[in-house]
Amino acid sequence: MPTRSCIVCRKKNEKSNLLRIVSDENNMAILDRTQKVSKRAIYLCKNIKCIEKAKNSLEKGKLKVKIGINKDCLEVLLNEVKNELGE
Ligand SMILES: [Zn+2]
Repeated sequence: MPTRSCIVCRKKNEKSNLLRIVSDENNMAILDRTQKVSKRAIYLCKNIKCIEKAKNSLEKGKLKVKIGINKDCLEVLLNEVKNELGE
């Protein structure tokens, strides 16, 4: 199984256990539920803790996202995922 690192905690995990976020041609963040969209992606643990940390880092401009993703759009997406995970 291919593994990837969470952009927040850097822990390695199987791709399928991580959230995969890609950007479209307009730099909008998209949650790739299929894990098959052939674009550069960032990975994040499926837990509130890492999502919260990602949001905080994003607000402080400290989140290193090498792929071009619109910051506001990513924040909206992170909020959606957080709600989905339940809180
Ligand atoms: Zn993590």
